[in-house]
Amino acid sequence: MPQVLPDWLTPQQFQQAVKEMRAVVGDKWVFYEDGPALRSYRDAYSTLDDDAFLPSAVVAPDGVEEIQKILKIANDYRVPLWTISSGKNFAYGGPAPRKSGYVVVDLKRMNRIIEVNEEFAYALVEPGVTYFQLYEYIQKKGYKLWIDPAAPGWGSVLGNTLEHGVGYTPYGDHYMMHCGMEVVLADGTVLRTGQGSLPGTQCWQLFQYGFGPVLDGIFTQSNLGIVTKMGMWLMPEPPGYMPFMITYPNEDDLFAITEAVRPLKVNMVIPNGAFTVGLLWEAAVKTTKAQYSTAKGPLPDSTLKKIASDHKLGMWNFYAALYGPKPMMDNSFKLVRDALGSIPGAKFYFDGDRKGDPSWDYRVKLMRGIPNMTEFNIVNWVNGGAHIDFSPISPTRGEDAVKQYEMIKTRAHEYGFDYIGEFAVGWRDMHHVFQLIFNRSDEAERKRAHELFGVLIDEAAKAGYGEYRTHLAFMDQIAGTYDWNDGALWKLHHRLKDALDPNGILSPGKMGIWPKHMREEKA
Ligand code: ADP
Repeated sequence: MPQVLPDWLTPQQFQQAVKEMRAVVGDKWVFYEDGPALRSYRDAYSTLDDDAFLPSAVVAPDGVEEIQKILKIANDYRVPLWTISSGKNFAYGGPAPRKSGYVVVDLKRMNRIIEVNEEFAYALVEPGVTYFQLYEYIQKKGYKLWIDPAAPGWGSVLGNTLEHGVGYTPYGDHYMMHCGMEVVLADGTVLRTGQGSLPGTQCWQLFQYGFGPVLDGIFTQSNLGIVTKMGMWLMPEPPGYMPFMITYPNEDDLFAITEAVRPLKVNMVIPNGAFTVGLLWEAAVKTTKAQYSTAKGPLPDSTLKKIASDHKLGMWNFYAALYGPKPMMDNSFKLVRDALGSIPGAKFYFDGDRKGDPSWDYRVKLMRGIPNMTEFNIVNWVNGGAHIDFSPISPTRGEDAVKQYEMIKTRAHEYGFDYIGEFAVGWRDMHHVFQLIFNRSDEAERKRAHELFGVLIDEAAKAGYGEYRTHLAFMDQIAGTYDWNDGALWKLHHRLKDALDPNGILSPGKMGIWPKHMREEKA
């Protein structure tokens, strides 16, 4: 395969490095020749050309010792690595790195569930463990524990947490619910965070802190280490579960919904990840655009109304759930009904009210920790469908919800795309997730999607809304928006990078964090 390599690496050196990696993991676990195995690591949804992101090779180690040997080789030749766990982070770039000589370190073989502890409700997993796998394991064992999956259940528990992913049960903030990591640094040092550094501890997965600075965070959304184990708190199965959905007929209802949700969330009346879902997000799970229109451009309001009526949907559709003994749920529900039910036009749906509706079914599963893949249907909204998610953070406030919605919808329409969005309400903030669905086989459309995304970043940042996660193509741009006090935070990231990974071998460029020599090159 023709290699695009960084300046400091000759093809011979690169080949030699790959040969040495082969000797570590075995031929079967290195993909180097161009072919389906290597190509499966491309980003099938990229807004850039097909070959903008692609690995030059892939190596799949099994275990810390093999990782250490690979790191040694990478340091010897200064080969850039790109670590993934299950590589299914598709809304934010998938497994593919830049094309200049990166070797993907695929940790899928490290997929052991080391422990599930029912008494204390936690799991200790390796990077390759997926939500499906953990769920099935718990079912098989008969443990009364729930997991908190990301919407697509094929993702990695550890990978999603490192990316600050969120879910749908009361344990929806994955980073908040993790407990203890094992990390391999670029020089091969292995360390454990929190209580894990006390030999003989029984609390590695029970208490998040140790003695001294809490370092777990620097290994998330970063390129400062390879995480090889992580603890995850699980939710004890509650005695009762009451999912519900409320539809609201008007676009303008977003303001009132958001105002009503905030106190319910801040006071933990609604304990789980609550979602205010736009009409087309709901619709795209179960129908396609072509069923309503073959015209180019965003669907007009008249068609939106038809879709809403065909599928018994609102312009906004609110999902949440209550958990616990029935009297507790009944009490909490009174507060929910008084607040969210008093908005004119609100219509409640409960278990059994929407039989056979895939949107309702998959949300009910997610809110009780059953992984599935239904939400991925949205990608098929248009022919040749691909997606990239734009997800700014905002206060849970009506004013901000409306402002965000108007900003993004207006720009999306201007660029010829539908607004397919939802507000994921965490505890105090909202992730406004806009799924930019585009036809990737239409080059002009792909380019428009790319341009739109860049515009949205700048406009959101100007209004005080920062992205929480993004595609590799936009990491530099977004990192540049977090520039308070002359970019003090990214300067610190770079100091850490230089200290912990002086050869710059770990995922150079991840989150706009670059090794020194590459920063100098770019300057
Ligand atoms: P998922 O399949 O769960 O969505 P990925 O495996 O695609 O997650 O990982 C998402 C991102 O998280 C990767 O691109 C990488 O930047 C980072 N990452 C994943 N696994 C690790 C790991 N074990 N150590 C360090 N970073 C990781």
